[in-house]
Amino acid sequence: MNPDFIIVGAGSAGCAMADRLSADGQHQVLVIEFGGTDAGPLIQMPGALSYPMGMKRYDWGYQSEPEPHLGGRRLATPRGKVIGGSSSINGMVYVRGHAKDFDHWQESGATGWSYADVLPYFKRMENWEPRGHGGDPDWRGADGPLHVTRGTRENPLVTAFVEAGKQAGYQTTDDYNGEQQEGFGPMEQTTYKGQRWSAANAYLKPALKRPNCEMIRAFARRVVIEEGRAVGVEIERGGKVEVIRAAREVILAASSINSPKILMLSGIGPAAHLAEHGIEVVADRAGVGQNLQDHLELYLQMAATQPVSLFKYWNLLGKAYVGARWLFTRTGPGASNQFESAAFIRSAAGVDYPDIQYHFLPIAVRYDGQVAAEGHGFQAHTGPMRSPSRGRVQLASADPAAAPSILFNYMSQEKDWADFRTCIRLTREIFGQEAFAPYAGHEIQPGADVQTDEELNAFIAEHVESAYHPCGTAKMGAVDDPMAVVDPECRVIGVEGLRVADSSIFPRIPNGNLNGPSIMVGEKASDHILGRTPLPRSNAEPWMHPDWQGSQR
Ligand SMILES: Cc1cc2nc3c(=O)[nH]c(=O)nc-3n(C[C@H](O)[C@H](O)[C@H](O)COP(=O)(O)OP(=O)(O)OC[C@H]3O[C@@H](n4cnc5c(N)ncnc54)[C@H](O)[C@@H]3O)c2cc1C
Repeated sequence: MNPDFIIVGAGSAGCAMADRLSADGQHQVLVIEFGGTDAGPLIQMPGALSYPMGMKRYDWGYQSEPEPHLGGRRLATPRGKVIGGSSSINGMVYVRGHAKDFDHWQESGATGWSYADVLPYFKRMENWEPRGHGGDPDWRGADGPLHVTRGTRENPLVTAFVEAGKQAGYQTTDDYNGEQQEGFGPMEQTTYKGQRWSAANAYLKPALKRPNCEMIRAFARRVVIEEGRAVGVEIERGGKVEVIRAAREVILAASSINSPKILMLSGIGPAAHLAEHGIEVVADRAGVGQNLQDHLELYLQMAATQPVSLFKYWNLLGKAYVGARWLFTRTGPGASNQFESAAFIRSAAGVDYPDIQYHFLPIAVRYDGQVAAEGHGFQAHTGPMRSPSRGRVQLASADPAAAPSILFNYMSQEKDWADFRTCIRLTREIFGQEAFAPYAGHEIQPGADVQTDEELNAFIAEHVESAYHPCGTAKMGAVDDPMAVVDPECRVIGVEGLRVADSSIFPRIPNGNLNGPSIMVGEKASDHILGRTPLPRSNAEPWMHPDWQGSQR
């Protein structure tokens, strides 16, 4: 193939672009992906979500540098290394983000990315099935490739969580991806007919059926730039280094960790840092690798006094039953990610839109499945949405095979600590409501004796984990913003023929999980790449709490 467009990375954004750029048959599209097949239940069965992350076969296996504000802990930074990228190893939770997140993108220089601009793209990508739990179809998309559904919500703990939120005086919302994000309600997942609906299933596999879309399995080392123009990609496959040329453009969609790494290896980045590694500077862009953001979270775990939780399946026989039922019928506990209730709340009066997210799980277990708690239980994952801490991705070496150096600077601001203490205290209040009275036993974690600010801080320092939402390392912004890496059409500033379109370009982390917004970026970037007029802006007005200034809930 003589590709017009080369896309590096078949992840959330890359798959969407493979589909949209090849759809009209006018352009030859080549996707370069280092990871392999996504076949098999470990990836395709939603209930198996804790397995692929951390597996060498599916995960790049990165970790942070010792985090100075967390006592030198290194935190796992999984990134998908498989077709579908991180959408093939993620938790499948589907959240668009809050309208105000995108308005903030626009205000910070990403012109044309306000909520009114991006809402039509969220609708275009979605194929929404509310499963009888409410929600307003006018706010949702019905014909897109990305199936979005909800779990069966059969477990009584799942509905108790929403009821408890209501009893504590919070809003409820029957669709946080619709008009009103704020409140307690059903959580949505990217699954379809009981199967993980990754970006590979939604976009890439259909696209690869077209004669003008191809994928090769190779490791992208750097972008080849001649006289200020990206002309191709240097790859390694089968032990050989070769260059594949692109007639029109190279588009990086290798994730917020690997896209900035590839930019730097290609001579695009902070000049002094490139010089340290002996890399010739093509474009001195101070922002490459900077502005790294993430969500941290904690699990508050309660013991259950009744045998209602998913713990009944947490043994060899139970797992065999779940697996077999899923294999034969695509139903049962294996058909859901089990995140079936959610909440988005504000930490204080005067905060204008939610800054805390909850995922509720009807079992007490670690995300990576490593430690199942003592018996029947349940837990809420909670954490602040807009941490002021910022980190960076840098090269550890000029060798493309070396892992990059990732430092998040987690919890570097006093606000981070105060916000987490608030999360814990608010969660205890929610678990203390009547709705949980039939089920709530003792607090497993942090434990009832952990109460003072100092005690809570010690618990937080030891137990916070990444929610696996790194982003922002090739920020989109105005051309005259020295820290912007791409302009509002995703073009790398200072180089012709090169774009970045993935979670790296988020100016600021949105309120929720990042697969949805990453796919949206791929969708919208495709229109820019093809020179199309963007979809008409929406004039829908999202709900805001009428008394946000005076009331926390
Ligand atoms: C364990 C985990 C759980 C998560 N849970 C959720 C969740 O429940 N809901 C949610 O919305 N979000 C979740 N996320 C986050 C979300 O999945 C990611 O933010 C999103 O998928 C990022 O999309 P992307 O396009 O930026 O990059 P990715 O999807 O990571 O894609 C990058 C692709 O580029 C490829 N690549 C990278 N470097 C090279 C190279 N040099 N050569 C060739 N190919 C390369 C990679 O192999 C990968 O396929 C989770 C993430 C993880 C890791």
